[in-house]
This record gives sequence, structure tokens and C-alpha cells, in this order.
Amino acid sequence: MQTEFHIGIDDTDSRLGGCTTYTAALLFQELVSKRFKPIDFPWLVRLNPNIPWKTRGNGALSLHFTLEEEQIQEVKQIAVAVVERTTDLSQRSTDPAVVFLKGPVTTLLSEFSARALHDILSVREARHIASAVGAETRLLKGSRGLVGALASVGAEFGHDHTFEILAYRTDENRGSVRRVNQDSVRQMDAMYQGSTFNNIDPETGRVLICPHGPDPVLFGIRGEDPASLVNACALVGVEEQVESIMVFKTNQGTDAHLNCRRTIRVLRPYQSTVIAGTISDAPRIIRGGHTIFETSDETGSIDCAAYSTTGTIRETASHLIPGDLVIVSGGIRLRRIGELTLNVEKLEVTGLANAIRWENPLCSDCGARCESMGRGQGFRCRKCNLHFEKASKSPKSEPRGIMRGIYLPPPRAHRHLTKPASRYGFRTPKPSNASSAVIDPTLGSLVSVPVVS
Ligand code: ATP
Repeated sequence: MQTEFHIGIDDTDSRLGGCTTYTAALLFQELVSKRFKPIDFPWLVRLNPNIPWKTRGNGALSLHFTLEEEQIQEVKQIAVAVVERTTDLSQRSTDPAVVFLKGPVTTLLSEFSARALHDILSVREARHIASAVGAETRLLKGSRGLVGALASVGAEFGHDHTFEILAYRTDENRGSVRRVNQDSVRQMDAMYQGSTFNNIDPETGRVLICPHGPDPVLFGIRGEDPASLVNACALVGVEEQVESIMVFKTNQGTDAHLNCRRTIRVLRPYQSTVIAGTISDAPRIIRGGHTIFETSDETGSIDCAAYSTTGTIRETASHLIPGDLVIVSGGIRLRRIGELTLNVEKLEVTGLANAIRWENPLCSDCGARCESMGRGQGFRCRKCNLHFEKASKSPKSEPRGIMRGIYLPPPRAHRHLTKPASRYGFRTPKPSNASSAVIDPTLGSLVSVPVVS
């Protein structure tokens, strides 16, 4: 009898090397080469980006197959062997975990996954959920990886998802400068605008598809559908050998971590959150050019920090005034005991207060602006020396210089999950399952990346 079989993997990498996507790509290719039938692309699930112990982008991976009962044992053995082979267990922060789930994902598990996007979850809870849903867990060292491995299996892409095509480097090149032709990336970007995103930072012209660390990723292109990514990938010129290529289905670029609105009173460190409130104090600019603005709701107040790297968010935040209405999204940090800051990732200005300037009256004789003679003592015209004891200041509405709307950081400062401006309003129906042409494990040879020697 056939059954769904899901494999979740996390925490196989460290700052010194490795990448959980690479482990998943190798495993996927090995399983498909042995004729096990995938239900979907491998999933690259980004989880709460504000947890403190992530290596880079808090990514966890899951693979989804239809298997005969008697194939399950072999698949499990292959999975554990690939994870062991691609993990450097001597690294202190690496706690690889593998989760196996037979049968469909239940609501209990998908709810756990949804919370892993914006909250801090304990290994204890992960163990409890795993046992409640009948998932088998394999821990190769510590237990922390269990949270991500389990959450990746229960991820839901119903409301939105994207794809990423990743090209991997050969072993001998890892750690050296990535030899990717920048002009070819610019040409690819121009040809695939709309179906790919965040290839280039528009302000600086910087190429964003290459990471910088010692991990095996040569480059990654994000986009809306696998076919466009395969074609876009074939346009990127590289001057080193490509080991393999894999397309992942992912929640990157969807703002999936910013779907939990909370009141200020219940905020806790490391959550990703959304608050709605009123600006309650004039913004302050601190050293480094960062803007801090206080936002209040009916339960309390919190300082929101718009860092200089956030571009128009910081610029807009510095023009806010008390009474403005905002929806602020981002990560919660503990500044000192009992004091939290919200690091802003997205700012929506929903209401603008009237900016009033109080002006001295005009001289009835010459029309010049009068000056005050002191508190409660009226005004005088310097030019005509006339006194106006009964006159008072009058309110004048000032132009605000900012508009209602959503403000985002520039692409170079995006997190993996940040929904880019180009995806707002995007509504293309997506294939829910992989097409066999693209899911073929020989995808690496289907896409020929031009190697320039
Ligand atoms: P990379 O993106 O390069 O794969 P990473 O940034 O994903 O690396 P990991 O090495 O996977 O970092 O470490 C993240 C750790 O945090 C994992 O052990 C994972 O189980 C755990 N984790 C993920 N999300 C949560 C969460 N919401 N609450 C608690 N722990 C979490």
C-alpha cells in the first residue's frame, strides 16, 4: 500500500561550512535516482528570523514522497546517512535533526509550524508534538534542530509561496571568491523582471544572488515559478564548475513571519510581530543615523528602531509626529531588563495627524510678523513699534512630507522572508505540485549554466 512520507531536516550547517539546503538537495537527488516518487519539490522553509541561535537565515528543509510501506526503511537509512555525510558534527552550534512522518500532516503539526515562523518554541514542545502526531525523530547530537526539522514538515504554502533555484559549488572551490559573471546576472535580471526578484539592489547595482560565506551555494535565484527559474539560471555565466542545481519550493519573499498581530503588553524577546498603534512621542535620531520612535496601543508603549540600513523606512520614521497611526512589523529585542525594542522590518503609515505650527499674528499696519512680548503680554511689531495686547497665535497646518502607505527596506537589507515591493499584488496561480520535467533529478544537467573559462 502507498503512503505519503515526509522527511524534515535542520541544523546540519555551521558558520564554517555546510548548508541544510545542500543536504536536502543531495538526499532528494539520491532518492529520486533510486526511483522513489516525490510528491513535490523539496521545501525550503524559513522560520522565525529573529531567533538568536540561527546560523544565517533560519532555514529548515523537508522532502515529500509517496512510498510503498516496504520502501520506508530504506529511505530512512539513506536520509540519516546523507545527513551524517554532510554534517560537521565537531561544530559546537550544529545539532542536526531528522524527522520522519508517515501519512498526512495534521492540524496540530501545521499549527506548530505556523508558530515557528514568529515565536520561540522549545525542544520540549517539539518532542511532545512529534510524539502526538506519530513522527519519528533522529537526533545526531543535541536536540535543538528538532524544532526546525519538525516545523519544516508541517509548513503550509497555501496562501503564498515562491521558488528558489540554487547552484552548488564543487568541494575544492568552497571558501574561495565566487566566480559569477556580474554582467550576465544583470542581463538575466532584465529579462526575468516580474518572474524573478531580488537579483540586483536597484540603488547600489549590487548583485544579490551570491552569498559570501564558506557554504556550498554558488548562487540562488528567487522567483515565481520553476520554469522561469530554470531559464533564468541558464543565463548566469560562471567561471567555476557547478556541482549540482536544485529547485526548492519556499516561503521566501512572502512575509510569512509577519502574520501575527499582537498587543504591546504581550510582546516577548525574539518574536517576529506586527503591532498597530499611535506615535506617542517625537522620533529621536541616535548615533549611526538610526531613528527611534515610540508607538503606543491601549496596552502599553514600545520603542521602535528603524536602522539606517532600512532606507526609506528610517527616512519616513524620522518624519512621524505624535498622533500618526502606524502598523509596525519586525523583531523584538531585549534592550535591558524589562525594556523591549521592536526592530522595524516594515512600516505602514495608516493615518497622518495634522501638523500644526502656531504663528505669531501679523501687524495690522505693515503686515510683518509680530514678535511676542513675553507670556500673556501680547505682541509687538518691531518695524512700526505697534503693540497688540489682545492678539494671539494662530494655528497653521504644515505639509507633512510623508504619505500614508507601506514602506520597505531596500532589497540589499531584506531578510529571506521579506516580501519585496515587486510581489505586492502578485496573483499568478501556481502549480501546487512539481512538473516532472523540472523535478527530474537530472535538473543539474538540464540547466546548462554557461561556464566561462
Ligand atoms: P542556514 O539558513 O544556513 O541553514 P540557519 O540559520 O537555518 O542556517 P540553523 O543552524 O538551522 O540556522 O539553526 C537554527 C536553529 O533554531 C535550529 O536548531 C532550529 O531547530 C531552531 N529553530 C528554528 N526556529 C525556531 C523557533 N521558532 N523557535 C525555537 N527554535 C527554532
